[in-house]
Amino acid sequence: MSKAMLIDLTECAGCGVCAEACKKEHNLPGKVGKTLDYANYTVVNEVTDDVYMRNLCRHCVDPTCASVCPVSALHKTPEGPVVYDFDLCIGCRYCMMACPFQIPKYEWHKPIPQVRKCIMCYDTRIKKGLPTACAEACQNEGGGATYFGERDELLKMAHQRIKDNPDTYHNFVYGEHEVGGTNVMFLLPKNVPLEKFVPYGLKNNLPTEPLPDLTWNVLNKIPVFVPVWATFLTGMWWLNNRKIEVEKNNGIKPKDNDENKGE
Ligand code: SF4
Ligand code: SF4
Ligand code: SF4
Repeated sequence: MSKAMLIDLTECAGCGVCAEACKKEHNLPGKVGKTLDYANYTVVNEVTDDVYMRNLCRHCVDPTCASVCPVSALHKTPEGPVVYDFDLCIGCRYCMMACPFQIPKYEWHKPIPQVRKCIMCYDTRIKKGLPTACAEACQNEGGGATYFGERDELLKMAHQRIKDNPDTYHNFVYGEHEVGGTNVMFLLPKNVPLEKFVPYGLKNNLPTEPLPDLTWNVLNKIPVFVPVWATFLTGMWWLNNRKIEVEKNNGIKPKDNDENKGE
């Protein structure tokens, strides 16, 4: 049995209560944003009139981010969430490259940056038998779109909804099979083509098998990969900081953009 969330996008009001609750739960700085970054583990964006997409880590059943991590900083817990250990993370960003949903983000602004993402409230709630903060807030104060529970039961509920309302939903549960299945799943409104959700975090045409080939064991055996990637990372870090420094010297306030925020 593993804990999961089902987000019924036909019920999402776009209120952002989920994102606010996440910030509060994890003491994340700043206001709720529109793009995932080190301070926004979940975001809500309008796809089309009154239809919203919520983006966050999918807590993959067989997570590629964990398989590529050279120091095992990321791992799948028996309860379902994919979590990470700050003390182990060396900031290599392999997980960022490997994630099929482009979820992990980077602390560009810190001298010793680390990767950040949704951890499904593992320490503060799941371990204590509580629902995630975002699901609780959505049910109590939001549109009631985010459900928390056992993955099997949520899947049953999702399929029942599709069966009862075939004109309302696309005829599948997104996340049931994608990349081997995920612990965050979606029901999608039938009147909006899937492609419309893609710019806001839904990935189309993903394989139904996990992505086990892209592992640290494989990357490690490619002789040029590690030094080239390490040089690239150092260069990106230097360029980013140099840009901020130049802007400061010219009296320009550094832009509050994704690059500087940790995209
Ligand atoms: S969505 Fe990405 S970051 Fe989240 S568990 Fe899957 S591979 Fe890892
Ligand atoms: S599950 Fe927890 S960490 Fe993830 S988005 Fe919801 S509140 Fe944030
Ligand atoms: S709280 Fe619920 S209804 Fe409001 S934006 Fe988040 S998922 Fe949608």
